[in-house]
Amino acid sequence: MKEKGFEKPACSTQSAPFPDEVTCPRCGADIEIWSDEEVTSCSACGYRVFNHERIVS
Ligand SMILES: [Zn+2]
Repeated sequence: MKEKGFEKPACSTQSAPFPDEVTCPRCGADIEIWSDEEVTSCSACGYRVFNHERIVS
């Protein structure tokens, strides 16, 4: 027996986050960081990359 249980997440229309690509300063791998993310870690070496200090090549 199935019920309709869909719930829409209450989302306010803020500026939509977008992915950005940065280069890991340690190993050089490409890291995807979202604009609303403060920090992310490199999937290759685990280096923590902060959004405000991302490297622009
Ligand atoms: Zn890395």
